[in-house]
Amino acid sequence: TRTFHSLRPRVPLPPSTQPLSITQYASSLLHSTASFSPETTAYLIDAASSTRLSYSQFLEQSRRLSAWLRSRFPSLSSQKVALIVSPPSLHVPVLYFSLISLNVIVSPANPLSTPSELEHLVKLCDPVIAFVTSSVSSVRHLPALPTVMIDSPEFLSMLNTEKSYEMPKQVAVSQSDTAAILYSSGTTGRVKGVELTHRNLITVIANLYHNKRASLEDEELSVALFTLPLFHVFGFFMLIRGFALGETLVLMERFDFVKMLEAVEKYKVTYMPVSPPIVVAMAKSDVVKNYDLSSLRLLGSGGAALGKETSERFTARFPNVEISQGYGMTETGGAATTMSDPEESKEYGSGGRLAANMQGKIVDPVTGQALPPGKQGELWLRGPNIMKGYVGDNVATAETLTSDGWLKTGDLCYFDSKGFLYIVDRLKELIKYKAYQVPPAELEHIIHSIPGVADVAVIPYPDEDAGQIPMAYVVRSPGSNISESQIKDFVAAQVSPYKKVRRVAFINSIPKSPAGKILRRELVNHALSGASAR
Ligand code: AMP
Repeated sequence: TRTFHSLRPRVPLPPSTQPLSITQYASSLLHSTASFSPETTAYLIDAASSTRLSYSQFLEQSRRLSAWLRSRFPSLSSQKVALIVSPPSLHVPVLYFSLISLNVIVSPANPLSTPSELEHLVKLCDPVIAFVTSSVSSVRHLPALPTVMIDSPEFLSMLNTEKSYEMPKQVAVSQSDTAAILYSSGTTGRVKGVELTHRNLITVIANLYHNKRASLEDEELSVALFTLPLFHVFGFFMLIRGFALGETLVLMERFDFVKMLEAVEKYKVTYMPVSPPIVVAMAKSDVVKNYDLSSLRLLGSGGAALGKETSERFTARFPNVEISQGYGMTETGGAATTMSDPEESKEYGSGGRLAANMQGKIVDPVTGQALPPGKQGELWLRGPNIMKGYVGDNVATAETLTSDGWLKTGDLCYFDSKGFLYIVDRLKELIKYKAYQVPPAELEHIIHSIPGVADVAVIPYPDEDAGQIPMAYVVRSPGSNISESQIKDFVAAQVSPYKKVRRVAFINSIPKSPAGKILRRELVNHALSGASAR
């Protein structure tokens, strides 16, 4: 068969029938880490305020929160969903761990979501409670839901109290239970809720833990700076990974490039998981020279394509910093391919090699045949970290997962003869603006509702800093003279900032297949050929 198997050493997984949550699993790894003290090692540091939580303080806070939630919200039982809408803060990981220990499903949303975006997520995940911060104004429009304000004085004093709560009994968690619902538009259409089980996340963490990087592990514990959003799969699993490895994670509430550089210097950061735009900025920007970044040893890039030239440019400037790339999707629960040593990291432009416990296949989109190394086709992935499915959407699940467990990624890829994956293009509709997901169908739906618009197609337009920007091709209705700025403003009022339409062109008709499918590739070529230049 033409199935690609992981070339990495086998990683042991606990027996799948053993009751075990992802947080119990991560804790079991932590206890076997030698150079670590729960009382003195900080798990979390807030970059701006320098507030820190040691491992024991963190665990104490999450236990306290569990007890408090148990007494205040008896309806918060196993496999109910908690929606979390908050910028990164020390409380967010406390919430994740606490809720998961109660076998409550955590569902974090982008704090920049607009009211209508949040409404859509609520319909998908059907939460029984919401956890929010006071800065998130859109939650005022949420349907009546018990809501806990996690920056209120009451909440904070509960977390920090000396008063002892009666500790809740250990809740039994099956590995097949759902741990989290994260959001992704997958290969088509609107945002869907990706159900990840404890087993999925245990696999992700096991793979990363057992292939941890020799270059970092023999020295002092790693200090990782998080510029990642904690609601996205990348930030979500990296939080748990950092815990399992006994690392110190420095969180930034709001991303700011200069503050990021300051934090690297101040906290002697050794490791940064990042999205490609940060690598681009570090390779190009002059302010970088004003900071002592000599502690930095490793950058792990993921979420979108990191070009070979960017890696080269970065390495020329930071010869002592290894840059490694990983590839994955919300639907894979974490990294599906990784680079796990400096030798592998030299394969610039590649997404790395299959993680342990993973299989891949390159499928010809036309014939459905599996292809050999060097040939391009759609990447299919299989393994115990592949999502359970899209919550409440059997149709989308069946379109994405085959009956024998393959996930169709919608990415056009090939494996080379050494097992490195190269991501060539996206067959699916998705646009990635700074690694954030922008589903074209959602923007098309909004633009269609504008009077004076007869038809529309939204495509990715290449951009050096952001990777891609959303561009709309609009067909005006007869007699309409709707302008570019009217369209941009209309969309901007309804979507999170990263989904804004940043380029508009007018066209006589949208090219479509006989079946009515938008021929996006044709439009991308049209845009790139400069035919749209006005
Ligand atoms: P998300 O679910 O938001 O993580 O988006 C997953 C998609 O991001 C993948 O299907 C790819 O299209 C893209 N992606 C993630 N990592 C990479 C990478 N290293 N190189 C290229 N594209 C990537």
